[in-house]
Parts: sequence; structure tokens; C-alpha cells
Amino acid sequence: MHTYTEEDDRIARAVIEYCLDRLKMDVPLDTPRSAEQLADQAGETITPKGIGGDQALQLWANAIGPACLSVDHRRYLSFIPSAPTKASSYFDMLVAASNVYGGSWLEGSGAVYVENQALRWIADLAGLPAEAGGAFVQGGTVGNLSALVAAREYALYRRGSRPARWAVCVTEESHSSVKQSVKVVMDADVLEVPADERGRMTGPALRAAVEQLAPETRDGIFAVVATAGTTNLGIVDDLEGVADVASDYGWWLHVDGAYGGAALAAPSARPLFRGIERADSFIVDPHKWLFAPFDCCALLYRDPVLGRAAHTQRAGYLDAVNVNSEWNPSDFAVQLTRRARGLPFWFSLAVYGTDAYRDAVERTLTVAREGAELIRASEHVRLLVEPDLSVLVFERIGWDAADYARWSAQLLAEQLAFVTPTRHQNKVCTRFAIVNPLTSADDLRLIIESMR
Ligand SMILES: *Cc1c(COP(=O)(O)O)cnc(C)c1O
Repeated sequence: MHTYTEEDDRIARAVIEYCLDRLKMDVPLDTPRSAEQLADQAGETITPKGIGGDQALQLWANAIGPACLSVDHRRYLSFIPSAPTKASSYFDMLVAASNVYGGSWLEGSGAVYVENQALRWIADLAGLPAEAGGAFVQGGTVGNLSALVAAREYALYRRGSRPARWAVCVTEESHSSVKQSVKVVMDADVLEVPADERGRMTGPALRAAVEQLAPETRDGIFAVVATAGTTNLGIVDDLEGVADVASDYGWWLHVDGAYGGAALAAPSARPLFRGIERADSFIVDPHKWLFAPFDCCALLYRDPVLGRAAHTQRAGYLDAVNVNSEWNPSDFAVQLTRRARGLPFWFSLAVYGTDAYRDAVERTLTVAREGAELIRASEHVRLLVEPDLSVLVFERIGWDAADYARWSAQLLAEQLAFVTPTRHQNKVCTRFAIVNPLTSADDLRLIIESMR
């Protein structure tokens, strides 16, 4: 840290200029490079004397940045992309320049106040009660883990002792982060219950599976995770049916809406989410389909007291922030120091208004429905699952894994699109994940035609 110099002023302006240019342009997809290529093009960048701002920025612009894919490209349809609004992107610069401490109310009251308004918008979409609340955390992985830790603490408090093994019900389609958290981080058992033919967890199948378990296995179940928009298929579980089973057994219901929770904003998709208002905890990643930059996950508890009971850290040096039981975001998750990562999302919501969010999510759903029509109408491809949301899983009839790999690499090499293979029922296929309102049906047509 030093006082601001003329040199800083020059470099800062150059960095901001670079950012503004990127925000204005049609970004290229860009290309992954090997470590050898990067060593060749960027070389050793850290030296005892420093290479200076001009050279470091130039290296970024010419070699390093172009080796990072543009996740916000309109034909980047792999994994779950991200498509931040302009306002959220430039406000992210402001968050960095201010370096707000977002862990406690004492230090970041203003930031926490508006972040909580953004959380409230989401809680209202889900129909959670007035006292619901939580915090923005790094991503869905941390959100899911934090919610499940709170669920287990609450179960321990209620029963007073540990079972032989703690366990959580999921399906095969539940996100890898849920299974990883339960198994590796929490050392609990993952109980995969059968899903229906579209990959949905349903109340009746969950109940039937659990009834068949040995009593001591069933005894250790403390939570069920339903997914509102599975990552691979975009399918919404039978939330109402799962909520019935959870309440009969006294389990915590966690709803993982990391990707699909955004569709709560779209009236045309809202009926799929019936039952979500009964969740004990819920997450959605604004960095996926709510147009915020990385990294940002909204974690909500029906009863935030239970989140606090599990996560509040206590120490002499923290008495000053714990003393007033103010709203400390660090109390609700596996985190202490926290970037005020909900602020870019808040700023964008404040600037454009919630109607614009409704319209943007509806637009992506419309394009996904048009894409499904295109696939149905083309004889060389076949839709594998009827879509609920904006993920389309389909196969090119007659292709094997090597065909998909070659085609995918060529699309990227030609800078046309980034679409990767996936697997469904152990067969290689491909998928579109559409979260970018700039993606059009013509973009999808172009990619489908490239598979002929
Ligand atoms: C992406 C995703 C996650 C993980 O979220 P990260 O932000 O990548 O940590 C969890 N669950 C679902 C359903 C997801 O789509």
C-alpha cells in the first residue's frame, strides 16, 4: 500500500479503459492454451523488481486474457455459463476499489443492508416467510455445504445424540457438490434414491426407498436434498411430494436451486416450483442465471437462527461483532472474511428493476423452447429428455464419443461455439445450457446444423 501516484493514475486508467472496451465489444470465445504455450507467450511474470503496470497489462491483453474462455459469450452453452449484466460487471470494479468487509454488520452495515434486500427478493420469489434470511456465499458448493451443516447441527440438537451414521437422501442427478460435501466433508452417508424416468426425485419414490432401509440407517437421515433444476438435465424435482416426506419424518428439506432457482422469476416456470416455500434452506447462484458476475450464491434459511447456531464463530477478538446479535453474514455459512459479493447483483437489481429480470429469464426459456422445437424438427438429432427449464440434452444419431469430441473441439477452434459432450444414462450426448438473454434460436440452429 502506498499513496496514489501519477504512475498509478496512468495504469488505473489503462485498466479501466480495457474493462470498458471489453464491456462494449462482442467478446471472442477465446482458446485454452497449454502451459508450454503460455510459458512461451507470457513467460515469467513475477520478478524481484516487478515488470511494471504497462507490461503486465499488455501481457494480460495479449496472452493471458485470450487464454481464458469468455463464459458470457452468447454461444458458450457448456456446463452452466454466466451472463452478467453490464451494471453488475462495472459495479464489481467498485466493490474491489472499496474493498468492503462483508463479514459483519459492524464493518459493512451498508453493504449488508442492501445485500439483504436482494436476498429478500429471492426469498419472496420462493415464498419463504418474513423472517427468512442468510448470506451471499462463494458458490453453490459452499451454500449446499453450509445448509447441510446447519441441518445436521439442528438434528443433533433435537435428538441429543449422534446416530450410528448420519445420512442425506439425494438422487443420481443431485449435484456433485452435494454428494462431495456429505461424503467427504461431513463424513456422512449419501443415500441415492431412485429418480423417475426424467431424473426427478418424487415423493412416492423417496418414501418407498426409505421404507425399505434398515431402521438404523433410516434413523441417521437428517436431511433430503431436492434439486430445483438439475445441472445436467435442468429438471425440477417434485418439491411438494418431497416436502411431504421430509415433514412426515422430521427431516430438513434443502432445495438446491443453484442453476434453476432463477426460473422462480419467470411466471411461465413458477408452477414447477410448487412446494419450494416449504424448504428449510434454499440456494440459488446469481452467477449462473441471474446475471451476476462470479462468484455469488444466495443462501437462505427459513429460520436463520438455525444457520447462526451452526456457523457463528466465537472468540475474544470477535466479541465486538457478536455482542449485538446484528446481522453478520459470516454467521450463516462456512466463512468469516467475506467479500461483499452480493453487491454487484444488488446494484444491477436496483438499476434495472425486477421486471427486467423476469423478462430476461423468460427470454432464455423461450429460446430454450424454440431450441427444443428445432431439435424435434431435425432428423439427425434427438431430444433425450423433455426439458423443464433451459437445458436441452440431445444426441446426434449415430455418433460415438469420438465424434462428439471432434465436433466440440472444432466448434471452439473455429470460434463458433463452446458446446461440450456430456453423458445421459451412460451414453455420450451433448447439451445446451442457455442462461444468456443474447443467445438466440438462430445461434442454436447454427450449432445443430453443424452436426449434420
Ligand atoms: C452449479 C451447481 C452447484 C455448484 O455451484 P458452484 O457455484 O459451482 O459451487 C450446485 N448445485 C447445482 C444444481 C448446480 O447447478
